[in-house]
Amino acid sequence: MGLLSNKVDRSQIKAGDHIYTWRAIYSYSHHGIYVGGSKVVHFTREQDTSSSMATSLDSSIGSVCQTFPDCGFRLPNSGVVLSCLDCFLAKGHLYCFEYGVTPSVFLAKVRGGTCTTATSDLPETVIHRAMHLLQNGFGNYDVFQNNCEDFAMYCKTGLLILDTKSAMGRSGQAASIIGAPLAALLSSSLKLLMPGPVGVATAAAGMYCMSRYATDIGVRTDVIKVAVEDMAVNLNWEDPCR
Ligand SMILES: [Zn+2]
Repeated sequence: MGLLSNKVDRSQIKAGDHIYTWRAIYSYSHHGIYVGGSKVVHFTREQDTSSSMATSLDSSIGSVCQTFPDCGFRLPNSGVVLSCLDCFLAKGHLYCFEYGVTPSVFLAKVRGGTCTTATSDLPETVIHRAMHLLQNGFGNYDVFQNNCEDFAMYCKTGLLILDTKSAMGRSGQAASIIGAPLAALLSSSLKLLMPGPVGVATAAAGMYCMSRYATDIGVRTDVIKVAVEDMAVNLNWEDPCR
């Protein structure tokens, strides 16, 4: 794995790895947990089929798989899907999400959503969480601001941010969305103080990196470890009044 790219070969991934691929000409990444046997457990938007760009672009969903009869398995009303590796990748390249990176490596990465300073649990634990959530769901995608990356990160670390009203998701994709306007805002206000365009760009890039770092689950203080069996209880998914 290089510093700036986590691209890997199929032979390099192991069961329990957090893998991802870039979709739609690099506009967003799709993440999942490789559970072995050419199978990936991943999280998608499931109900919103008309307006969701993610669904319409996600060719792994709804297509008939020629290789595995159980490819595309999901419970009714659950966004957690089992797909074969081919359908998950949809001809995209395969990348492996890195865990336990140092803060300097984390900040050196060009894009958010490729690594975290949080450490991964044992592969068996990761696979157990993924398979449990396949059978029990992962909550409502929109309400919890969960996305496929949050799902994979939870499986890897068991870490959840319980303040569901927070505007910041824990994943790099959310951080990128928040970070860019923040950096733009700061750079415009810093223009008065900065002597030249280089200084402005550096300050903006610095703020962008730090905002990413501040939202990384490895350094956040508002995350807790939640056993997969306790997910529904902790997130009140079974509360009918919510
Ligand atoms: Zn398939």
